[in-house]
Amino acid sequence: MKKLNRRDFIKLGGGSIVAGTAGVSIPNIAIGATKKVVVIGGGAGGAVAAKYIRKADSSIDVTLIETNKDYHTCFMSNEVIGGNRKIETIRHSYEGIKKHGINVVHSKATNVDIDDKMVTTESGDSFAYDRLVVSPGISFKWGSVEGYDEAASEIMPHAWKAGSQTSLLRKQIESMKDGGLVIIAPPANPFRCPPGPYERVCQIAHYLKHNKPKSKILVLDAKDKFSKQGLFTQGWKARYDGMIDWVPAADTGGGITSVDPSNMTVNTDFDEYKADVVNLIPPQSAGTIAIAAGLTDDSGWCPVDLGTFESKIHAGVHVIGDASIATGMPKSGYAANSQAKVCAAAIVASLNDHEMADPSYVNTCYSLVAPDYGISVAAVYRLAEDRSKIAKVAGGLTPGDASADALQREVQYAYSWYDNIVADMFG
Ligand SMILES: Cc1cc2nc3c(=O)[nH]c(=O)nc-3n(C[C@H](O)[C@H](O)[C@H](O)COP(=O)(O)OP(=O)(O)OC[C@H]3O[C@@H](n4cnc5c(N)ncnc54)[C@H](O)[C@@H]3O)c2cc1C
Repeated sequence: MKKLNRRDFIKLGGGSIVAGTAGVSIPNIAIGATKKVVVIGGGAGGAVAAKYIRKADSSIDVTLIETNKDYHTCFMSNEVIGGNRKIETIRHSYEGIKKHGINVVHSKATNVDIDDKMVTTESGDSFAYDRLVVSPGISFKWGSVEGYDEAASEIMPHAWKAGSQTSLLRKQIESMKDGGLVIIAPPANPFRCPPGPYERVCQIAHYLKHNKPKSKILVLDAKDKFSKQGLFTQGWKARYDGMIDWVPAADTGGGITSVDPSNMTVNTDFDEYKADVVNLIPPQSAGTIAIAAGLTDDSGWCPVDLGTFESKIHAGVHVIGDASIATGMPKSGYAANSQAKVCAAAIVASLNDHEMADPSYVNTCYSLVAPDYGISVAAVYRLAEDRSKIAKVAGGLTPGDASADALQREVQYAYSWYDNIVADMFG
């Protein structure tokens, strides 16, 4: 494997070196005893951290523990629900990851022994580590909406982890009668992918408009405002006028409080609604292994040093992606990718006894309003001097007066972004 020099690594990592800054060092190549890194979770964060640690220092022994044999990206899963894409196109294997010399173990991590620096899996194997990366994504707070548990999600899918839930929601939308009602219930902040529910509204509306035009979508939100709201509402008006009714939390007393899947009803403090399809996205916290390992605080998420993603609770353990409290960044796949690279650089630097370069971070979130209508938000960040937040230093939104051509180009950018991030994760 080709070893990388400092400039290559930083280019790959999305990290940066400020010219002339004192204390900046090279994530160098280790010589001597083999250092071990274990990564839990082979998603947007974990797969990238594992790969970039190996790319920067191929002497480090990296084990990636991932429950599933294949990974379904949540990104573009709304297109599957809208019928514009097949589920197979968002399914990816770990064969490419293995080519980087990463030991991929398909099992569930069930225990982290912080004192002995050891991860145990469901299959009974144990893996020692010098550094541990935890990127398990989210878990659902079952029961926080009365009547909504895992069994209920088989009738009222969340489709907030891609795979069988995505296919289930697609099937329900496809078999719904014309003139039916779809209820979508986004959660309060913070949650995975802030613009995701509203892109889903667009994708379902697009399908209904062309196949079941008498149908309606009712969005019972647990918030009073949402990501890219101006651009989304503009898109809804332009393309799906009269089909979508978005109800803020203020009008319902906070969104859905209980459900009855056997009658397909949902309740707010004031009203009961009966629907043909209910997509309830429940409140979330860090993935269960992060909770079990004692990495979460009272918020249910994992506090970390924002320059290295090392846990503020357990030294030697790094938490990235949705599970972490990455103050200033949204919970997105691209954010997880960027955090993974900063975390990889920090681990390589620490295992080689070097100081780390000043990190920088990026995020872009595309949302597809229609097959020829995309919108996006992009930002570049740097670590605040007091390390209290990942501070946005540049960025922007699709302009409200963007031309039809520009909106169409955003769709192409979104597809190209998808190909690139997937290649970065699994290639
Ligand atoms: C509908 C939707 C659309 C989205 N669209 C976008 C988008 O356009 N752009 C974008 O940037 N982001 C998007 N996101 C958000 C993005 O999917 C997440 O932010 C991202 O996947 C988070 O990465 P992660 O590594 O934290 O978690 P994940 O990618 O979920 O990876 C976690 C992995 O850990 C594994 N795991 C969990 N626990 C264990 C365990 N105990 N042992 C072993 N393995 C375990 C899981 O199987 C999973 O593979 C979207 C999300 C949704 C729901």
